[in-house]
Amino acid sequence: MKLNNNARTSSCLFLVLTLVGSCFCSGWNYDPTSPYGPESWPEHYPFCNGTSQSPIDIVTAGVTEVSNTSPLIMTSYDEELPNQLFLLNNGHSVQVNIPQSSQIVLISQGGLQSVYMLEQFHFHWGETNSEGSEHTVNGKAYPLEIHFVHYKSSYTSVGDALANVANDTSALAVLGVFVQVSSDVRAVSEDLESLLSKLAEVTHEDDETELESGFSLDDFIPCDRTFFRYDGSLTTPTCNEVVVWTVFKNPIYVTADKLAEFRTLYATNSTSAEQIQLTHNFRPVQNLNGRTVSLYADPDGTERCNAKGSASAARFCPVVVVALNTLITLALLLVLRNDVV
Ligand SMILES: [Zn+2]
Repeated sequence: MKLNNNARTSSCLFLVLTLVGSCFCSGWNYDPTSPYGPESWPEHYPFCNGTSQSPIDIVTAGVTEVSNTSPLIMTSYDEELPNQLFLLNNGHSVQVNIPQSSQIVLISQGGLQSVYMLEQFHFHWGETNSEGSEHTVNGKAYPLEIHFVHYKSSYTSVGDALANVANDTSALAVLGVFVQVSSDVRAVSEDLESLLSKLAEVTHEDDETELESGFSLDDFIPCDRTFFRYDGSLTTPTCNEVVVWTVFKNPIYVTADKLAEFRTLYATNSTSAEQIQLTHNFRPVQNLNGRTVSLYADPDGTERCNAKGSASAARFCPVVVVALNTLITLALLLVLRNDVV
């Protein structure tokens, strides 16, 4: 069949629109110079243009302190996670999914109106140590932020919550944890370091590797659980404004070498002709638009940090004893050698 000029133009236009449309439906990234970068998200994902978006800059002088509230309860965060946990590079981040069968990890109280079940956690990082976290405090960014994504227990999953969130602006609850760099091995999170040592096995999109069993999420949470709370959104498209945010005030720590491994990852799969590095994956901060940010102090923080400090000292004590013994032995050997000579 031969097409006339109008029909041919319409067909071409349809084809172009279809191709562009398919790119817009699945394509978004963190490159500010890209037509799919964060500045363009609102064009393609209308919720990203809302007035309660995340992340935000938390200005501590403007927060409202909340007192006389029951502390945040984090159930099973201190228990060993089950075997068969996998670390996945999904092209936008690296993520650990908590299996449906063992969803016993949950949060409640601390100002939350419901119980929320943990489904997954993932990471946001930057190209240098002066950027990377999505939230900032008084304009300051941390090099890494971890998000623990929970859904309200009346839903069956995050996907179910997003599909059925009519007027439910508290369908999800996300914990944000800042991570700072430290060269003090006693301060770093041992389980986080262990997890990050597996990043080399998920270099490309869709790469997945099994984690070693036996770690608990407690090590990923600061011992002083003082936190900021505000109502916001997903920080990735489709930017639904359904998230109760809990951002811990204090960071946990990791070594610079382990952190740098994030910057060696790729946003593309291993067979892709064009390889795109995943050097950074944080959305710029959004306008507060009059929202309230609250501060909840942790009444048990000092006690929990003291206990953790003692445990850390006990962990390193044997190392110190061995080192001292070695030094004493060497000194004795030198003395004996001098005596013989
Ligand atoms: Zn996130």
